[in-house]
Amino acid sequence: MSAHPALDARARDRTIARLETEAFDLAVIGGGIGGAGIAREAARRGLRVALLEARDFAAGTSSRSSKLIHGGFRYLAMGDVALVRSTALERKAVHRIAPHLAEPRWMLVPARSRAGLVKFQVGLTAYEKLGAVEGADLHRTWSAQDLAREEPLLDAVRYHWACVYREYVTDDARLVLANLRSAAADGAAVLCHAPVQAIVREGGRAAGLEARCALAGRTLRVRARAVVNAAGPWVDEVVRLESPDAPPRLHLSKGIHVVLPAERLPVHHLAILQTEDRRSIFTVPRGGAVYVGTTDTSYAGGATEWPGVTQADVEYLLAPVNRDFQVVPLRPADVVGAWAGLRPLIAEPGKAAREMSRKDEVWIGPAGVVTLAGGKLTGYRPMAAATLARAAEQAGLRLADPGEEPPLAGGDFAGGLGALEAALRREAPDLSGDAAVRLARLYGSEAREVLALGSQPLAPGAPVVAGEIDWAVGHEGACRLEDVHYRRTRAALYDPAARDAVVEPAALRMAALLGWSDARREEEIAAMRARLAADLAFGEEAR
Ligand code: FAD
Repeated sequence: MSAHPALDARARDRTIARLETEAFDLAVIGGGIGGAGIAREAARRGLRVALLEARDFAAGTSSRSSKLIHGGFRYLAMGDVALVRSTALERKAVHRIAPHLAEPRWMLVPARSRAGLVKFQVGLTAYEKLGAVEGADLHRTWSAQDLAREEPLLDAVRYHWACVYREYVTDDARLVLANLRSAAADGAAVLCHAPVQAIVREGGRAAGLEARCALAGRTLRVRARAVVNAAGPWVDEVVRLESPDAPPRLHLSKGIHVVLPAERLPVHHLAILQTEDRRSIFTVPRGGAVYVGTTDTSYAGGATEWPGVTQADVEYLLAPVNRDFQVVPLRPADVVGAWAGLRPLIAEPGKAAREMSRKDEVWIGPAGVVTLAGGKLTGYRPMAAATLARAAEQAGLRLADPGEEPPLAGGDFAGGLGALEAALRREAPDLSGDAAVRLARLYGSEAREVLALGSQPLAPGAPVVAGEIDWAVGHEGACRLEDVHYRRTRAALYDPAARDAVVEPAALRMAALLGWSDARREEEIAAMRARLAADLAFGEEAR
């Protein structure tokens, strides 16, 4: 069995009882990568930790990223050398503790001229030095012949060369879950669907928080010596619970991705393409799909879980794809999935969103709440360590020596992903090669346990297997159909074959596990179908 104890959705009452009765050292608000990383680090260092998430774990920005653990090659051009160095080094660290969630892939940077090629080579050499990249992972140059073999759809008239360098593809929501489950293994009490509504004070100092269980509709009070606000785009809202007149510190920037069926864009490698306004976007082939992103536009609507995808956003992303790849022109109607997220950037007045730094910042409010804002998924470990250090100093908490960092949940396997996939196929001979690849990347060493719960496809032709639903509910705290579909199996995002087909069978299985009535099951299905349709109903930006 997994060394990491379950976040069992059926044990909510037990978790709530713990939250109400125990005295915690640290209470974390927000279960995105920021909060999950802090909870894991704090629990590993001997603190008694509580974490409360308003919606599902990773329901905010941490399920909407480009899913790259990367040093941000493009930020070199912005002069952010320190940020690039720390995040480029982080790639190795994440790969070490969660090899299934940091898969090295080639990123192709096409060049139109020799001068352009040399510019990329110089930039990549600097980037690789900062990130201590070595050996087989160093960048290389592809000639026109190499390109014809490796990426035959790339426009050969426009591009005669390309540089390729290593990027690491992750699954953002599952990285959050792996951190939360590791925190729980070290004793953290972790609850989703529980928005924090007030900061509890004693003698003017933050001494805990009050939250509402959104499923049971009741309030709970958590006592803690230190409180951390890791609410991502909602950081300003949570700051106002502590000091109602605090001015906003964030600038929200919207980024969208669109998903295309792999048959419509059969490319092999990740690629960087340039938009008309000279921004870089990525194409990322993944299973039966290729996703393309991202945009970077100021978002005035305020923090929300579902910022809309507009027709203009979609056309903006498809234009460079149609220009650079020789495919039947792709239109918005070809898009089979889409997601949008909000970057919680630290506001820099006078700058456009795309020019603002991705740096993180930690500050302490008047009642002592420690707030973390900004940053990138990639740098979550150092951000967590720095935030925790501030919180410990503030509340006089002693941090134990953490020792060597163990793997995250699912990360304890040797021999690489290839060996893991082969082992899965030996154990479940009916599993297709693609299904084994998918399961290994999503669940790592725990894929075997997932398969043991049910290896049959959830719907004909769908890559999702039945055991994933049981695993999501029993081990990863999924309470609603949306939690499973969007942030556990990820079928809503990059599995066109399963996006609609598994909704009903997944609901049936969840109903049996969670004791839903027929009416509740139908409500979940209707809400899910409405959400999936809304993703593809590209409208206008609300002003
Ligand atoms: P969130 O993930 O939003 O987490 C905050 C959580 O707090 C939410 O789940 C929210 O529900 C919860 N919350 C809010 N209010 C309350 C409350 N009152 N009580 C309890 N909980 C509350 N970074 C990379 O490294 N690589 C990439 O490829 C990359 N691509 C990106 C692409 C896009 C389009 C975007 C938008 C960002 C990208 N990023 C990337 C950045 C990265 O995704 C973010 O920096 C990161 O996910 C932010 O995490 P967070 O925990 O701060 O916020």
